[in-house]
This record gives sequence, C-alpha cells and structure tokens, in this order.
Amino acid sequence: VENAIERLAMARELFGRNAALIRSEKALSEADRRKNEFIATLAHELRNPLAPIASGLQVLRLTTDAVAARAILTVMERQLSQVTRLIDDLLDISRITSGKVLLRPKRVLVDVSMEEAAEAALPLVRAANHTLTVILPQQPLWLEADPARLVQMIGNLLSNSAKYSENGSLITLSARAQDAEVIIEVTDTGLGIPEPMLSQVFDMFTQVNHTLERAQGGLGIGLALVRQLVEMHGGSIVAASAGAGFGSTFSIRLPMAPAPPNTSIGLPEGQ
Ligand code: ADP
Repeated sequence: VENAIERLAMARELFGRNAALIRSEKALSEADRRKNEFIATLAHELRNPLAPIASGLQVLRLTTDAVAARAILTVMERQLSQVTRLIDDLLDISRITSGKVLLRPKRVLVDVSMEEAAEAALPLVRAANHTLTVILPQQPLWLEADPARLVQMIGNLLSNSAKYSENGSLITLSARAQDAEVIIEVTDTGLGIPEPMLSQVFDMFTQVNHTLERAQGGLGIGLALVRQLVEMHGGSIVAASAGAGFGSTFSIRLPMAPAPPNTSIGLPEGQ
C-alpha cells in the first residue's frame, strides 16, 4: 500500500510539473505573440511618417513655388515630430522600466504646467478643429513635481483627447483641490472608452478598437508612461467614460504641496 501511495504522489507531482510547464509555455507563446505584434506595429508606425517626408523632399527638389514649399515643409515637420515623439516614448518606457529615470522635483504652480501643456497641444487641437478650454484653479495650487514630466503627463492626455475625438469636439483641462490632493482632469466629448477597458488602457500595448484607431496610429504606450510618471510622483490616475461615443475623463491625483516660502502669489503687490 505504501508503495502505491508513493507512486501516486510521484504521479501527482509529475502531472503538476507538466501542467505548470504547459501553462508557462502558453504564457511564453502569448508574450511572443504580443511582442511580434508590437514589432510589426512599431515598424508600421515608424514607416508611416517617412513616406510623406520622402515624397515632400522630392517635390521640394523640383518646385520653385515658395508658398507650396512652405506648405510641404509644415507637413514634413508634423510627420517628423510624430516619429520623434514615438521614439522619445519608447526610450522613456525602457528608461523608466529599468529604473533609470530620475525626477528633478521642484515646487511648481499647477497653472503654469497646465498652460504649457495646453500650448503644446494646440497644433493637434487646431488641426482637428477641436475647442480646448482651460479652467484654472481658483486659488494657487502647488505641487512638488518634475516640471517637464508634469507637462508631459498633461500633454499626453490632451493629445489623446484630440486624437480620439471626432473633428470639432470639446476638450476641457481643469484642476481643483480636494482634501490634500490636486486633481488635474482632462475631459473630452470624443469616442469614449467601453467600461471593461477603463483600467486596461493604462497597460502597455493596449488599445481600444475605435474605428478611428488605425488612422490615428500609436503604439499603446502613452498611457502606460503617464501612469508610471504619475505613480513616481506619489499620485494615481483613473479613466472614466459613459461608454463608447460618450467622451472620456482622465483624472490625475497628486499630493498637494505647501506654497514655497517668500511667495508673493496671491498676496497684494509689495508683500
Ligand atoms: P496610443 O494612443 O498610442 O494608442 P495610449 O497608451 O496613449 O496609446 O492609449 C491607449 C488606448 O486608449 C488608445 O489606443 C485608445 O484606444 C484609448 N484612449 C486613450 N485616450 C483616449 C480618449 N481620450 N478617448 C478615447 N480613447 C482613448
């Protein structure tokens, strides 16, 4: 009997190991599939802006029309900045995941970062005929944050709203204080996000199947990057949407910082 029990235990262990092996093989092939898909999309996304740049160069070589040349240069600049942003995001992701990104935190006024991000998003907003409204907080709100990274987080949300909204939509950027936190919110009246995807959009390489999607390009890393940066600042980010077609709201919560000493903001001049 003892022998039989021993054999049974052995068989069980072998079976368990086999099942674990099959499971890890499955996980590996899933990771492999995602990686291959990512490489194909990446190649596509890098290749896409290059075609208009190449044909623009050809036309520039032949044209003597200064107005046409300027229009072509504008298109080329836009395509170039798209490739640059993509590569910067990729570099950022690899630096952040390997812990190589260092924040240079400073005491910053949230208004300043909001205005800077709005300014940077303007070309994209205007190109799609959207209206961007910035609602600044009623009182000065301070954060302890890396100013460039803060602008990057807000800017990323704004450009997503511009990308994932039908032409002529409304985008609102606002900030307010709640308890000891500053809430920075980007709301749009765009394509919206189905409920099951609301938390998944922050995962790397995750994209919602909007019909506009392929025309918009992208790799599904922007929001993963934003979440990492927000968390490095001790904050959190959530998405909300009333569903496909009903717009989206992204809310970043960051710990509020006290006003720096000797600040005269909010005080009458001379104090
Ligand atoms: P990318 O824009 O490069 O695809 P992101 O990580 O920035 O990658 O976004 C992931 C996905 O989340 C997008 O592909 C899109 O499907 C969805 N998404 C992001 N922002 C919005 C938004 N404001 N409205 C609707 N969908 C959005």
